[in-house]
Amino acid sequence: MYKHLLILAVLCVFGYNIKAQNCPSVETTATEIRNHLDYLASDQLLGRNTPSPGLDTAAEYIIARFKELGIKPAGNSYRHTIGLQRQHLGSGNSMTLTISGKTTDIPLKSGFIPFLFSADTTVESAIVFAGYGITDTAWGYDDYRGLDVKGRIVVVLSDGPKGKGIIPAERLNSEESKVQNAILHGAAGFVMVNGPARRLILKPRGYPWPSLSKIMPDDLMPVNIADPEKKHIPAVHAGEQVIEAIWGSVEGLKSIQAKLDDGASPVSVPITESSMSINTSVKTEYLSADNVAAILEGSDPVLKDELLVIGAHYDHVGAGRDKGDGSDFIFNGADDNASGTSGVLAIAGLFAQQKVAPKRSVMFILFAGEERGLLGSQAYVRNPVVPIEKTVAMINLDMISRNGDSLFLEGSAACPELTEIVRSKNEKTGLNLILDKNELTGGSDHASFSARGVPFLFFISGLHKDYHKVSDNPDKSDALKAARTAHLGFLTAWQIANEDQHYTLNK
Ligand SMILES: [Zn+2]
Repeated sequence: MYKHLLILAVLCVFGYNIKAQNCPSVETTATEIRNHLDYLASDQLLGRNTPSPGLDTAAEYIIARFKELGIKPAGNSYRHTIGLQRQHLGSGNSMTLTISGKTTDIPLKSGFIPFLFSADTTVESAIVFAGYGITDTAWGYDDYRGLDVKGRIVVVLSDGPKGKGIIPAERLNSEESKVQNAILHGAAGFVMVNGPARRLILKPRGYPWPSLSKIMPDDLMPVNIADPEKKHIPAVHAGEQVIEAIWGSVEGLKSIQAKLDDGASPVSVPITESSMSINTSVKTEYLSADNVAAILEGSDPVLKDELLVIGAHYDHVGAGRDKGDGSDFIFNGADDNASGTSGVLAIAGLFAQQKVAPKRSVMFILFAGEERGLLGSQAYVRNPVVPIEKTVAMINLDMISRNGDSLFLEGSAACPELTEIVRSKNEKTGLNLILDKNELTGGSDHASFSARGVPFLFFISGLHKDYHKVSDNPDKSDALKAARTAHLGFLTAWQIANEDQHYTLNK
């Protein structure tokens, strides 16, 4: 007995032999994961929305675990603050249009609606019609060719040209990039109307502001990474009233759109004897949330400058309204992603228990804001602790506690050498590895790294009926499954962190 234990201890100390998984047992890791998961997915944390006090409490818990393990902060602090912002529609939004001496007040909501990305300011100027508002140099298409829009308000059509010189749908600009294109050309204001040739509904869309539509509760307004560099101008979506005031009728604009689609002649023109005044009141609320990151410095004098990132998002989507009738209103996010968070903590624990540090440095990072669009991982890759070129691989754990033995390695075809490591380590772990699926590839934090050229592994046990529902509760999570995944993740990570190979990322 004693001798046997000694052998295991020796294996545990000296390297990444497959036997390292016996130290400690998966059952021990499962107990640890159960504790983390039950706490992180408890009602007390109210679904860990970004940002929220519950998320902050979860961050405290994670930091306490890193301290217990003796793993140091990555950078000056375990907390890496992400500057966030959220927009609200202010009061006093207005729009006035004068054509050949005739002035029309366009009402908010039925006549025009500011876009989410509009500036908070007033503009008054003559107007210029700029076609679809698209500049696609590579395609040889430019609605702004020969047009001077400096200081002017541009009016553009939704969508893109059809017919001659058609631009494929995937090259079409988003509404926001049409605004950015207008800004690049010096425009001071932006008005979009639906192109009546292909759109039956001409009502203003803009954004479903809670105060205008009641569709969206105020606290569910999207949160974005604050970008002080980004330029804004008043930007609105306008309806039929504006079309009629400028072109006399919807039919008038339809015939212009037909010419535009024909590609026969440029139809972008200044609108004569026109002026427009737009005041958009869009208030920015500044917020913040934290990624939590710890680093284990490598032991090899050269390889320690290289980094393996092991991450998971610790946020979820928060809570709905308490109806007071005892019905569940908390999105606990046990599988999504208290499980992956617990898995990363377990892997950190397995690393910390090795007597020798790995050759490469290893960072354990828990991201905020994944559910709001990979905000935490995007903020990290913009401002990494170790230069991104030195990051040899990223392992992402997102939803690892469901669906029996099945473990998907999503997008694995992109990273063949890394996949091969997992496949060989799994010979002992015995999970049902499902390789080369690509259905869920873009949907989690590894995507922020792969976009910067970092090879990745994405462990996910697959979707289920409780996905993004209040029923994603801790009792439905299989802690043993998560522990087996964590052990497989550890064995894989231990090898990556101890070799000097660089891995391929096929795009
Ligand atoms: Zn999710």
